[in-house]
Amino acid sequence: MKMCAIAIILALSPIAGAFEARPSCSESIGDLMDEISGSRIMDTIVHLQSFDTRDYHTSFAMDAASYILDSMHDLGLGTELQEFEVSGFMAANVIAVLNPEAASRGVYIVGAHYDSENSAVSNQSEAENITAPGADDNASGVAVMLEIARILSESECELCTVKFVAFGAEESGYDQSGGIKGSAEFVASEAQAGTRCDGAIIMDMVGYRAAAESRITLVTNEASSHLANSIVEATTESDLDLAIQVRTDESLTYSDHSPFWSQGLASILIIEELNSLTNRPINPYYHTSQDTADRLSLEQMTVASKAVLAALLHLTDQGEDSYHILAYGVVAATVMGVVIIALLLLRKRKGET
Ligand SMILES: [Zn+2]
Repeated sequence: MKMCAIAIILALSPIAGAFEARPSCSESIGDLMDEISGSRIMDTIVHLQSFDTRDYHTSFAMDAASYILDSMHDLGLGTELQEFEVSGFMAANVIAVLNPEAASRGVYIVGAHYDSENSAVSNQSEAENITAPGADDNASGVAVMLEIARILSESECELCTVKFVAFGAEESGYDQSGGIKGSAEFVASEAQAGTRCDGAIIMDMVGYRAAAESRITLVTNEASSHLANSIVEATTESDLDLAIQVRTDESLTYSDHSPFWSQGLASILIIEELNSLTNRPINPYYHTSQDTADRLSLEQMTVASKAVLAALLHLTDQGEDSYHILAYGVVAATVMGVVIIALLLLRKRKGET
């Protein structure tokens, strides 16, 4: 009996090793996470706030879109400017695609809106002249997205398709004509084209930290819980210094994850700590001229980037399907072998007695 237990352990040990082998690339997840640069994230935020405002009623928003398009193009990604109209104003989404040829293996979206708003603005002239630096809301999400895009585009991992999308016109605007328009446009256009979408990870306001520790909230619905779980698991596996609160609440639809939900697609929102009474982000400066880079936590943005990157590597790893089939095959064959040996031993014993 003892021999049998040892045989099982010996037979199963290579499988335990094989499960740690993901992702299917030469670099380990830890190596790739180490490449995340907090200073690059901060540089992007400072650049985005230098437009003074990215209110979609102004031409500055399109200037910011051009800057993001150039940044994505410089990474060697195929890029597209998806223009659309909101109450007579032209707005745009910036789309960049990594590994477009691998779409049959899976398509994941990483998204963040780049427009900003100052709630003190009440007309067009004020929209053009009152600053809305939007460092936390949402240069932070765009900067994290660009940093993840940089690392994945430079790595040799064989991942499935990843679309990085900087959404326009997420804010409602002084005339209340907008609100989550860019992501709605993107989802509608993808649905019309019949494009595959396995899940969307949306980031909106990830940089402000009120507590001593780094904290993020994952807003999800039941159907998207696997996406939230992938972030929680990646954080635990890599022992990241990040406190995560998962909120499964379909009523929290105030950002770009909601058009995906409406279309029946899996999506989660990654956002900083929420005020427990209002369910809104705790940053007291957002939608004001004081939403600036100096008020953000570089530590929180860096660790959140690592969690998202590690989760994405697990989700998009091309080797996963064939790998699991192989692993399950080996387990099944081992179990069968052990049963046969046990039966033979039993038969032998019966024969002896
Ligand atoms: Zn926002």
